[in-house]
Amino acid sequence: MSDTDGKKTLGIRGGSGSVKQSFSHGRTKNVVVETKRKRVVVPKPGAAKSSGSGSGSSAFGDPKKRPAGISDAEMERRMKALAAAKAAEADEARKREAEERQREEERERRRREVEEKAREDAEREAALKAKEEEEERSRREAEEAKKREAEARKKPAAAPAAAPAAPKTDDPAAAQAAIQKQERGGRAVVTPPRGRETREEDDRGGRGKGGDNRRSGKLTIKQALDGGEGGRQRSVASMRRKQERMRQKAMGGPDQREKVVRDVQVPETIVVSELANRMAERVADVVKSLMKMGMMVTQNQSIDADTAELIVEEFGHRIQRVSDADVEDVIQQLEDKPEDKKARPPVITIMGHVDHGKTSLLDAIRNANVTSGEAGGITQHIGAYQVQTDSGATLTFLDTPGHAAFTSMRARGADVTDIVVLVVAADDSVMPQTIEAINHAKAAKVPMIVAINKCDKPDADPNKVRTELLQHEVIVEEMSGDVQDVEVSAKTGKGLDDLLEAIALQAEILELKANPDRAAEGAVIEAQLDVGRGPVATVLVQKGTLKRGDIFVVGEQWGKVRALVNDKGDRVDEAGPSVPVEVLGLNGTPEAGDVLNVVSTEAQAREIAEYREQAAKDKRAAAGAATTLDQLLAKAKADENVAELPILVKADVQGSAEAIVQAMEKIGNDEVRVRVLHYGVGAITETDIGLAEASGAPVIGFNVRANAPARNAANQKGVEIRYYSVIYDLVDDVKAAASGLLSAEIRENFIGYAQIKEVFKVSGVGKVAGCLVTEGVARRSAGVRLLRDDVVIHEGTLKTLKRFKDEVKEVISGQECGMAFENYDDIRPGDVIEIFEREEVERKLD
Ligand code: GDP
Repeated sequence: MSDTDGKKTLGIRGGSGSVKQSFSHGRTKNVVVETKRKRVVVPKPGAAKSSGSGSGSSAFGDPKKRPAGISDAEMERRMKALAAAKAAEADEARKREAEERQREEERERRRREVEEKAREDAEREAALKAKEEEEERSRREAEEAKKREAEARKKPAAAPAAAPAAPKTDDPAAAQAAIQKQERGGRAVVTPPRGRETREEDDRGGRGKGGDNRRSGKLTIKQALDGGEGGRQRSVASMRRKQERMRQKAMGGPDQREKVVRDVQVPETIVVSELANRMAERVADVVKSLMKMGMMVTQNQSIDADTAELIVEEFGHRIQRVSDADVEDVIQQLEDKPEDKKARPPVITIMGHVDHGKTSLLDAIRNANVTSGEAGGITQHIGAYQVQTDSGATLTFLDTPGHAAFTSMRARGADVTDIVVLVVAADDSVMPQTIEAINHAKAAKVPMIVAINKCDKPDADPNKVRTELLQHEVIVEEMSGDVQDVEVSAKTGKGLDDLLEAIALQAEILELKANPDRAAEGAVIEAQLDVGRGPVATVLVQKGTLKRGDIFVVGEQWGKVRALVNDKGDRVDEAGPSVPVEVLGLNGTPEAGDVLNVVSTEAQAREIAEYREQAAKDKRAAAGAATTLDQLLAKAKADENVAELPILVKADVQGSAEAIVQAMEKIGNDEVRVRVLHYGVGAITETDIGLAEASGAPVIGFNVRANAPARNAANQKGVEIRYYSVIYDLVDDVKAAASGLLSAEIRENFIGYAQIKEVFKVSGVGKVAGCLVTEGVARRSAGVRLLRDDVVIHEGTLKTLKRFKDEVKEVISGQECGMAFENYDDIRPGDVIEIFEREEVERKLD
């Protein structure tokens, strides 16, 4: 388009010179042009000779070459006719050219009209956009536009009037363009009334020129950089950026800005985003430099301290390595002020001998409460529940009776129990586990209340219970001691209320308090992998209040509270001290007894969880819980005398897993033992199979199954998977398997005695004893011991057993024989030979 313009302009102006060409996107180009005039042949008299262009004319002009018979006059006439014809031809050509030019101009004009219309539309659009972006400027714009429009209306034949607008800009290119436009404007037959305005805007754009401005509504880089009035299309943000650039330039540039060197604390492992955060650098930059080091990590992955150190140094900061354990410092260890503490319900564990009615009592208390409280309330077994006494006190009962759970919780540092209810059956009195329970309660310094159960039974003898307890230093109130005792019956419900009141009274004495207004801390009572809900843990809140959305770390796991479900199965928003709740939103299954702490950020939670996981791994490795075949072999070599049956246990709930582990540990004796390599909650996975294969262990699934990849892996690797749903079956089977490892017992049977009468020397054989078999038989194949004064001086085998000259297998009592020892010569008359046989006896574990 501009090319055509240029050509036309040149065509009109003629001559040669340079011209600025404008292209789309504001590009311009200076072009040196030379116009070639069309040579028009004007015949001059006498010029015919020199014109010499046509073969005809030269032939006619030259008299020598002229055909014969043509006179000079004739020649003259012909020449004239020829010249006239040529002139007419030239005229014709000129006319055609002019016509052509006119048509071209017409086409051009129409095209320009269409384009200008399109440009107007685009500009209107741009103006609208600008209005949205920048209210004020667009208002000003609108005013200007209005003013201009008014002007334009005043002068409808605006084309020539556009001229003064051109010099508005200092840009010579724009001026040139304006000049060209003026020329075009002059030629333009019809100029739309808005033509001036559009052109003016073109000029304001700095680069506007003819149809090129179709896209003038858009901001070109050139336009953006050129400044001037072209800034119309700039956003506020770009202006700000420019200002900022100027400011930085004035201050000596951003590069010279002083870098803040930070002390960056880095634990053994750190999440990339957290590292970036601590250095106050952009995460993307940190990830980039890690990539440069060849480490493809995302911002959520952890890197070790050595890697972190390189990064910290690269960013010019100082590293401060902190001990791993320090990561736990974020957990609030503040002691609560006494004034912040409020009374909380007591937490009760029921203990006692097996079958004395612990479970029945727990159920009775709960059911009595449920029926009296909310009729039809669904009982939800989450490992603990709360009940109200008639006097209005709230009590929290742990649903896992027995001291095994109690102790394993304590071993993990979760002292959740405030009061122990010792159940003793009135018809059975104190039994071994009763004593164990007493000892556990005493060790934990937890007060006890004795519930003498089964008082409905005819052979119940509560007083026997009381007296027997005396022997174990449990002096009940009836015996003028300070331990409360209540006669109850889980079956009839008798005395249950008294028991609850006794507990409430004990709780009052204990003055149990906790601060509900702080970050929550609690203990896991039960944890399991729920098919639909993922890992679920029942947490007994001990301090503070656990709320939905809280970020926490629990043992080696962490999470964000997605939902809280109470013991009635209701969703709740928060749980205060002594309240048991199911917590959803864990990233893994914690273990019973794990402590839950609420922390402020996910990064902290993850960091602590990872640290704990690593620490636990190290601890296990240190404790010799071999997990690899090498370690196992090394361990086996270290104590060769003990055969081990390694197993892996996966169970549906933590409680079962622990119960199985405890049962397994009890199997065995000095020679053989069961070693639980690993136990956990959830399906049997490929990892389990891998570990089992490495250790040659079977995998026990208790109420869980192997997933498909694990099954395949087990088939391939020949790992045995056994499923159980009854613990006793499992224990029996494992016992049988462990028995297989017992070295068969070697039993010695004495089969005879012989007395040495004489000793001969036989060449080629050595010393031979002439003996009399005094008891039983002497057998060639049997083992022998040489006794001198009832002391065994040699044990070995026989080289020969001869009766007279013949080698025999057996010599019976009362007969004489010759015997020689294998590799032993020191035999004397009067020595006794003991003859015995060994028998292998298979043994069983009991
Ligand atoms: P646990 O092993 O201590 O949990 O004892 P259980 O609660 O399983 O009870 C063992 C047996 O004693 C069950 O058969 C109960 O029915 C029974 N039992 C429990 N409490 C009472 C009671 O108060 N009276 C009577 N007669 N039987 C009871």
